This record gives sequence, structure tokens and C-alpha cells, in this order.
Amino acid sequence: MISVETALEIILNEIKPLGKERVSILSALGRVLGEDISAHIDNPPWDNSAMDGYAVRTADTSEASKDRPAILKIIEDLPAGYTAKKDIKKGEAIRIMTGAPIPNGADAVVMVEDTELQGQEASASGAGKGQVKIFREAKVGDNIRKAGEDFKKGDIVLRKGGLIRPAEIGMLAAVGKSNIYVYQRPKVAVLSTGDELVEIDETLTHGKIINSNSYSISAQAQACGAIPIQLGIARDNKKDLKEKLTYGLTADCIISSGGVSVGDFDFVKDVLKEMGSEMRFWKVAMKPGKPLAFGIIGDKPAFGLPGNPISSMVAFEQFARPAILKMMGRADIFKRPIPALLTRPIKKKPDRMHFVRAVIEEEKGQFYVTPLEGQGSGILSSMVKANCLIILPENVKDMEKGSTVKVHTLDQSLLYQDKPGY
Ligand code: AMP
Ligand code: MG
Repeated sequence: MISVETALEIILNEIKPLGKERVSILSALGRVLGEDISAHIDNPPWDNSAMDGYAVRTADTSEASKDRPAILKIIEDLPAGYTAKKDIKKGEAIRIMTGAPIPNGADAVVMVEDTELQGQEASASGAGKGQVKIFREAKVGDNIRKAGEDFKKGDIVLRKGGLIRPAEIGMLAAVGKSNIYVYQRPKVAVLSTGDELVEIDETLTHGKIINSNSYSISAQAQACGAIPIQLGIARDNKKDLKEKLTYGLTADCIISSGGVSVGDFDFVKDVLKEMGSEMRFWKVAMKPGKPLAFGIIGDKPAFGLPGNPISSMVAFEQFARPAILKMMGRADIFKRPIPALLTRPIKKKPDRMHFVRAVIEEEKGQFYVTPLEGQGSGILSSMVKANCLIILPENVKDMEKGSTVKVHTLDQSLLYQDKPGY
């Protein structure tokens, strides 16, 4: 038997990122950036107003107050998108809108709430005319967004290997990139094996079971950004297995389930060995999911996951997921463990690494985790209830209620609830 850590290390050593492709930023959500992105301009490009108000010279507002306002002559009206035609001189102000460039001569903006137009002629229609009362002393820089305060020309604003979220897409647009390099999404060929398997719509006669692994594994692949390709079901004979696995070589990666243990009809190992330059077959010290095959066929990584539905899903999580993320160019490929307190004891021998289906919840700043009933490797219903896996390392023995364990979340349920979270 080898440890989970060793198996993972060997696997990841063999995995290389795929090539890159150029895509529109409109279809880049969820992809991984294939290049560092630097800014071609300062942002904002020039000093501009953070408020609707009056661009002024602070010297003209010294000691201004509600009772003793400074009175300035309005010389121009400046909406966003335009440049002031005039410079501000002593005793003058320009009515300015949010986002408009600061006129020459001004060193602050007084917000409209701290001002009052003076006289009949200075109504809203009297744009650029009249006088304004300023009720407070302005300080240099008040309500001015400085050029380059967001980023400066030449700054690296996004790094290669990062996940592209809506904010990254906004940033790409802001630095003038409509098309960018992203890593290719791996095509993952998914094969189920077994004479007992029937497809969803087929008649279920005695002795047969529905192929669910193809669907759960495809969804897992999709969830980490890959494109699943269905190879269907291969029967437990070498010819069928070889045919279907060979077809799988058109993809970037092959994942099969079943047929890797020591039963009389477990031919996946033999066939992978015949096809692969170097295949490894392990008993990995983990529960669920002991048997595992991994190797490179041609230049394509191939995973032979165990057949039990939970074993295959857990093995996918541990080995295929980080491998796929590495193929996708992701910088961070491992799940971050969350520490949580056990609400119930767990029995364990110090033998293998256990992955326990469980529910993690937060209460008053503390995470609690409750192991679920039904930990058998074929019990899908507990996998459905689970939002996390408790990780119990090999050497760990029985765990008492209240002990701290590490947890990998399986989904985003921890991040959502049925009421606002303020
Ligand atoms: P195997 O590793 O092929 O011996 O399979 C182990 C167990 O997992 C058996 O009970 C199989 O029936 C079951 N199994 C294998 N493949 C699938 C699949 N695609 N969908 C659901 N169950 C499966
Ligand atoms: Mg089988």
C-alpha cells in the first residue's frame, strides 16, 4: 500500500498544463488566465471628481462656514466626459459632475451638499453662470480621485494561473483587453466498466445496476472546469475495454471506473498496462477507494478509479481533481482544509486515510462537523447529504467528540443560507 500523499505526488509529477487559446473576455468566466496582464494606462487616467459639486481653489475657501460662506463665481459647467475649457482663477469655481476631469487651477471639489447657488439667475438652467456659496473650508485633494490611484501604466494587474471571475473580466476590459490567452479546458473521457451495468433508460433486470458513475464523474470533471466526454459502458472483457479506452485517447485525459480490484473480471489494469508506456497500480491507503490505477498512455494521463460509487468520487476528489486543475493551468489546485469540531465521536483504526462524509455548519464563529450515517462505499444517499469530507490521516485513531478535524468542503453550500447574512 502507498499513502495518499505519495500517490498524489507521483501523479502530479506526470501532469503538465495544456496549451493556451485566445478567447473573448465575454467567454472567459471560469477559465484560467494564461498570461500576466499589465496596464497600458493609468486608472483613473487623470485626476477626477468623486462627487457632484464645485471644483475650487482651496485658498478661496479658507475659513468658510455656514454663517460666513465663501462666494465664488461660477465660470463653467463641466459634465463627465468633457474637459474644462477654462482654468480656475482666484475667486472662481467650476460646477463639476462625478467623473469629470479636475480643471486646471482647482485643488479640491466641494460637494454640492455643502454649497448653495446664489441669486435668481443661478438656477439649474443658468448653467455656468452666477455665484455659489461655499459653506466649508476645502482641503487640498478633497473629493478628488487621483490619476493612477487604482493602477498605474505598466502595473501587473492580473497574474497568469488565476481563476477568471467577474471582477477579473471587468479588469481585463479596463486595461483594454477584449481577447486574452486562457488555458485550454481539458477534455476528460469518462468510461464505466462492468457487465452488470445498464444505462439509465434500459430495463433493469435482476443482477443489473444503473451506471451512475459515468454521470457523477462527468459532473465532477465539469465542476472543476473540464469538458466531459462520454465513452459509455465497457463490458468486462479486454477487447471492449481496449476499444473504448482507445477512443478515449482523443481526449486529454481518461478516467475509468471499476475493474481495478483483484476480481476475476477486473481487466482494466491489464488493458491499461497493454496500452500504457508506464502504468502504476496501487493499493492506496485510503478509505473509501483503495485500488487505483494511474499512468500515461501516449501522452495522456489515465486514471482507473475504483467502481464503488463513493470510492470513485472520493478518489476523483483526491487525485483527478488536482490533476485536472493542473492541466488547466491553475496556480492553486488543492482544497484548503477547514478546521472544525466533531459533534460525534468517530471510530478509526490507525491504518488508512479516511474520508468521512459529513455535514459542516458554522455557529457563532466556530465550525462544527457531523459525520453522517451510512459510510459504505456504495451509499450514494449519504454523499448527497454530505457537504464535506472529514480527513482523518492514516495514523489517527478513534476521534472523540469535540476534537478538531480537518474538513474539505465538497460544494459551496457553506457559503449560502436562506436569509441575508449581515
Ligand atoms: P468493481 O470495482 O468493478 O468491482 O466495482 C465495485 C462495485 O461498484 C460493484 O458493486 C459495481 O457494481 C459498482 N459499480 C461499478 N461501476 C459502477 C458504475 N458505473 N455505476 C454504479 N456502480 C458501479
Ligand atoms: Mg466491475
